[in-house]
Amino acid sequence: MTQIKEQPRRSTTAGRRPVGKVLPGDARRHHRALILQQLVDHGARSRADLARETSLTRVTISDLVAELIEEGFLIEQGTRPGTHMGKPATLVGMSEDAPVAIALDLSADGHLTGAVVDLDGKILTREQVEFSRGDDIAVIAGLAVRLRESTPRRILGVGIGTPGIVDGDGTVIIAPNLGWENVDLAAQLSASLGLPVHAGNDSNVAAVAESAFGAGDDQGMLLLMIGSGVGGGVLIDGRALSGPLMSSGEIGHVVVDPGGRQCSCGNRGCLETFLSAPALSLLDNDDDRRHVGTKLATVLTPVVTTLGIADVVLYGPTELLEGALLESVRAGLAQQTLPFVAQRVQVRLVPMHDELVLTGAAALVRYRELGVV
Ligand SMILES: [Zn+2]
Repeated sequence: MTQIKEQPRRSTTAGRRPVGKVLPGDARRHHRALILQQLVDHGARSRADLARETSLTRVTISDLVAELIEEGFLIEQGTRPGTHMGKPATLVGMSEDAPVAIALDLSADGHLTGAVVDLDGKILTREQVEFSRGDDIAVIAGLAVRLRESTPRRILGVGIGTPGIVDGDGTVIIAPNLGWENVDLAAQLSASLGLPVHAGNDSNVAAVAESAFGAGDDQGMLLLMIGSGVGGGVLIDGRALSGPLMSSGEIGHVVVDPGGRQCSCGNRGCLETFLSAPALSLLDNDDDRRHVGTKLATVLTPVVTTLGIADVVLYGPTELLEGALLESVRAGLAQQTLPFVAQRVQVRLVPMHDELVLTGAAALVRYRELGVV
């Protein structure tokens, strides 16, 4: 996972703030989030730095930093040498032993992957078990329990990336691949594990990871996850779009060829029937790959244009996507958008081994539990 950490951060992430409604009773939580966000984004600093950067008072900072040290999130990291004649400032930063998240990835066919992930998105331990349509949720809980026992660190919560349409409470409204309808996944796991559990659509969660830990433009990004199916995640102003139907990003089921192949959703000729990894692996020449790339560009054009997004990520097996397919997506987008947009939009590949669903599930826990984006 180190390659994620090495990717350059965009300047747009500098000075960002956790977003969301702040209720009076949540003021303390919001102030804690401001401090943690600053330390996660910019590294260790003094209490005086934090007061200046967050506009909180020195007293509030001291109080909350003491609390966060007590809870194991922060640690004093020595002093900054020789800046003033007076007492050298003590630096505080994220602790190496800070609480961690358990992350679960249900996006693959036939197996389930779980990991212990730290608050920087680093995978510490990882385990894969068989899991197929019809298997009991107890299998998922069992993996979470083993992961919890594998680390001495406190568990902040459990995050899950699952296929399908997922509501804000972590109920899977519908996931055809798993045969699930109205499964209260987060609630069931939370009851069984005694931990907070948060679930989100796998592609949305992957988009969150690319923004939180990767090179994603958190002001606006579209991520297409290309695996056994095709899903999409849209991030605007640091938030994953859900939409009133909670189906935002279901771009794989846009019909591009009405008379085409049967799709798992019941329609014919969906984008997914061309662009899924199994479909791409059948292609044996660049003309066919260009054809798929052109169809994808036609689906992406109205989305990119309407939302004003410049960062388009294709997250999948790079060996199937690079070359003729990627070039024709770029060319198609350039031809079909305003010159202003065409000059700015970039389409880039992120390889599957970056494990964005796992790290995104951890980012979901970090956001929901601590308010850190
Ligand atoms: Zn479909």
